[in-house]
Amino acid sequence: MPVVRVALDLPLHRLFDYLAESATSADIGQRIRVPFGRRERIGVIVSVLEHSPLSPEQLRSAGEILRDLPPLSPDFFKLCEFASTYYQAPLGEVILQALPGGVKRIDPPARRTVRRRATSGERVVPELTAGQAAAVAAIDVAQGFSAHLLFGVTGSGKTEVYLRLIEQVLAAGRQVLLLVPEINLTPQLESRVRARFPDCEVVALHSELAEAARERHWRAAFAGEAGIVLGTRLAVFTPMPRLGLIVVDEEHDASFKQQDGMRYSARDVAVVRAHQANVPIVLGSATPSLESWANALGGRYRRVDLPERANPEACLPTIHLLDTRKMVLEEGIGAPVVAAIEERLARGEQSLVFLNRRGYAPVLACPACGWVSGCKRCAANMVLHLADRRLRCHHCGFEARIPQACPTCGNQDIHPFGRGTQRLEAWLRERFPAARVLRVDRDSVKSRKQWEIVLERIHGGDADLLVGTQMLAKGHDFPKLTLVGVLGADAALFAADWRAPERLFAQLMQVAGRAGRAELRGEVLIQTQYPDHPLYAALVAQDYPGFATTLLREREQAGFPPYSYQAILRAEAPLMADAMAFLANASALSKMAECPDIMVYDPIPMKMARLANLERAQLLVESASRPALQAFLPRWREAIERVKAPARLRWHIEVDPLEC
Ligand code: ADP
Ligand code: ZN
Ligand code: ZN
Repeated sequence: MPVVRVALDLPLHRLFDYLAESATSADIGQRIRVPFGRRERIGVIVSVLEHSPLSPEQLRSAGEILRDLPPLSPDFFKLCEFASTYYQAPLGEVILQALPGGVKRIDPPARRTVRRRATSGERVVPELTAGQAAAVAAIDVAQGFSAHLLFGVTGSGKTEVYLRLIEQVLAAGRQVLLLVPEINLTPQLESRVRARFPDCEVVALHSELAEAARERHWRAAFAGEAGIVLGTRLAVFTPMPRLGLIVVDEEHDASFKQQDGMRYSARDVAVVRAHQANVPIVLGSATPSLESWANALGGRYRRVDLPERANPEACLPTIHLLDTRKMVLEEGIGAPVVAAIEERLARGEQSLVFLNRRGYAPVLACPACGWVSGCKRCAANMVLHLADRRLRCHHCGFEARIPQACPTCGNQDIHPFGRGTQRLEAWLRERFPAARVLRVDRDSVKSRKQWEIVLERIHGGDADLLVGTQMLAKGHDFPKLTLVGVLGADAALFAADWRAPERLFAQLMQVAGRAGRAELRGEVLIQTQYPDHPLYAALVAQDYPGFATTLLREREQAGFPPYSYQAILRAEAPLMADAMAFLANASALSKMAECPDIMVYDPIPMKMARLANLERAQLLVESASRPALQAFLPRWREAIERVKAPARLRWHIEVDPLEC
């Protein structure tokens, strides 16, 4: 009797064999019901075998093979196998996480018929600028695999370049995968794509879709009906039979990195997928990740530049540094920023004050005894949210009431310390009573609907003064915005995390890029105590390439990525001693794996050493050679798997970690 080898969504690095009477090799890639323990599960048939290493008596019989969908293709398996090997993730997990909930449930929900959304909006096709035309010409979408880094300053019209390439690919009868960091933040992009291609089915795939919609969209992609799949990182695995192009917009964005479960970089998987499928890929950004920049320098990616803004009337904003050591600050804001806001208000233009910290104040403190509002469950402070009168931990979500007096010494005079967007908003309202102030952060904008309303208000000129976090920094066009004031950026200059400067530079370039997108010239004022810092000098010059060169040189000297390859083993347990002992053991096992060229560091507690009542520690491994690291990791992981860990200890390996 035929035996099927089945991938199941389990944290185990193995597949499972079952007897399946009716199975033929045509069923490879189909879903199947199988008994597992005392329950039934849905798995995916990876192969159909003549013989299993187990005898028939040892095998259980599979249930029904679900043949309502075409089988998943060898291409799909190849991509999943890559991700499984590269990220040390069980193949079953990789395969099943790529499928929408509805097709892998024992009792699938009833399916509703497809509602096709009528496309509204005008189809305006602008004439390409010379730069855009050159970029489109440089990217030959008919030539099989090639990786392009589209390096375009903010407002340079990268989207239009994507749209022209997409048009060519659709005309050739192929599908396009367009990946974006956070779909909710870019409703404009979705409507632009739909308006441009009214005859093409465009489907969105992201985690906030209702399950039924996600399944419907996924099926449309898999069936080849959807010409364009617009999705976030999880969409990178969507099977698409006629894939002809992949675009990754804002490729530097950390949202492409999955930080839990299977930890992978959707951008990197996308490049591998393009290579496997022999289709072109375009990675776009005004501030590329250093990894991609190094790939371009090394000739692995072809760089395509858009050095000027697309709107001929618009030019890049001017950036000025304001030395706060020489100023009196009121609620953190100096007179020049206040004056600049007043000027904008008088002219009927918009201003944005950027502070990347939400809440009223980062902590509540007692000056008498030194008490601070720490989270009971984490090594972090609870943030004061005056609007809803709560203290809230931004790491674990724990909440508490604001105490009337200090819980340790009874002092009634406890103070908010530092400032967040709510506090800034309150002060700005007081200082500019005639201005319509709009705060934009994850507390004020929680859903896509709210975000659309906010964007409409900004576009309609229904707000004079915006206060916001990085939510406002990403990819939006605010034509009336001519001033950006940046507060509190210095903290990231001296952060322990060596990736912090890269992130800060990108963030400030992006937020600066919101100013002066149309005819009105933009100005950016950055308050700092370190006006001589080279990061700010590069920012004023808006010189990403120069900054990247400097950072890459530093990384090379320090032996950091992209000049080395890293993986992290993390352990969390109720007791730090258990986590550390586990890692020490794993460190010893690494020596036995006898892999040359691998550097294993000592276990250390993580920077956030306690999260939601678990103590966390980590161990970094590094190599100058990616193949060496890749050869080492599975052997090491298998050795660790054989160790009996304390009952409540959890561990995982993360490859190419962004935070270490
Ligand atoms: P980026 O993503 O590179 O920051 P966008 O794609 O958002 O830039 O484009 C910036 C602005 O320029 C948008 O308002 C867009 O409509 C406009 N734009 C893009 N291409 C052209 C063009 N060829 N002619 C006129 N305006 C354009
Ligand atoms: Zn006290
Ligand atoms: Zn917490």
